[in-house]
Amino acid sequence: MKRELEARLASGVRGLSPYQPGKPIETLQRELGLKDVVKLASNENSLGTSPDVAAAIQVAAQDIHRYPDGNAYLLKEALVSYYGAQHAGDHNKILFDQITLGNGSNDVLELVARAFLQAGDHAVYSEHAFAVYALVCQAIGAVPTVVPAKRWGHDLEAILKAIKPETKVLFLANPNNPTGTWFTRDEWEAFIEKVPSNVVVVLDEAYAEYIKDERYPRGVDYLHQYPNLVVCKTFSKAYGLAALRVGYGLSSIEIADYLNRVRQPFNVNHMAIHAAVAALGDQRFVDESCNINVQGLEMLVSGFQALGLSFIPSVANFISVDVGQPAAPIYEALLREGVIVRPVHGYGMPHFLRVSVGRPDENRAFLQALKKVLRASA
Ligand SMILES: *Cc1c(COP(=O)(O)O)cnc(C)c1O
Repeated sequence: MKRELEARLASGVRGLSPYQPGKPIETLQRELGLKDVVKLASNENSLGTSPDVAAAIQVAAQDIHRYPDGNAYLLKEALVSYYGAQHAGDHNKILFDQITLGNGSNDVLELVARAFLQAGDHAVYSEHAFAVYALVCQAIGAVPTVVPAKRWGHDLEAILKAIKPETKVLFLANPNNPTGTWFTRDEWEAFIEKVPSNVVVVLDEAYAEYIKDERYPRGVDYLHQYPNLVVCKTFSKAYGLAALRVGYGLSSIEIADYLNRVRQPFNVNHMAIHAAVAALGDQRFVDESCNINVQGLEMLVSGFQALGLSFIPSVANFISVDVGQPAAPIYEALLREGVIVRPVHGYGMPHFLRVSVGRPDENRAFLQALKKVLRASA
């Protein structure tokens, strides 16, 4: 009987396996009866959230019997003024109608796929790229070209070559998860100017806040020039709001119109809207998060070096380390030590573990557990 329904499934869904999230802390506590658990598995903000957020949520809680503002006026207004303040030049200002809100930026990725892709359509993304690009394409039955990576990062020249007349969407992550690799402004500009203007370019900047290098291109600066560009941003990482699910796309008004046609009317909830406004207003917290992250990355890197492990240099709030052997048993052994990291065999990186940058005590606990586990496996 079950098979009868399976035969009726949308063909893209038949072969689909769900996204594998990082193991929640409570799950490991329940499974292994552990009390102290360190989770460095989902690239969350190790500092937590701005204290302003808790206050905003308390006020917002008084109105949870009402539907949220489906257009999230307050959040869009806050974003418009945030980008306005960052850019002296008029052409880089963001308008209200260029914003598409998402239930996390994953939602925006899905909106792009829903709006532009149908079964059989062609999309392009890189090997080792963020898993959601494959998921949203596959669910619809779109047929992606997965372009081999270059030194773990996106090979933009090869991605250009993979574009066919019928290609509809490109997905790029800068920096990419789980590799932590990024491309420079020069590389980006040489790339985007050659992309046909009828191909939608999704530039996923989930970790942009962490990068201070002046050669890093900010997608928002290119929107006035490229009406086919969608820049995806999130409040889940540097802003510390992963649980509330808020992200947004920035694009031309035309694309935002298309994305908003397929968006659920209340995809971002009331608490999330108010929390995001408060989080955006506390840039000191974001700066502090970035500073802690730089120190944490250094700590992890020197820990890996001390253990003789190689790693992919990262600019984000995570780093992928080569454990020199199949990583799945190491991942399991780390769980027994109360440390949750992320196996990335699904990304074609079976010898790597991706580790989120934690607070100093968390990084230390992870490095100690890793040392112990590697010793035991030697
Ligand atoms: C974490 C992440 C996101 C953000 O996901 P949300 O849905 O906003 O929580 C998007 N893209 C990449 C590459 C990520 O790693």
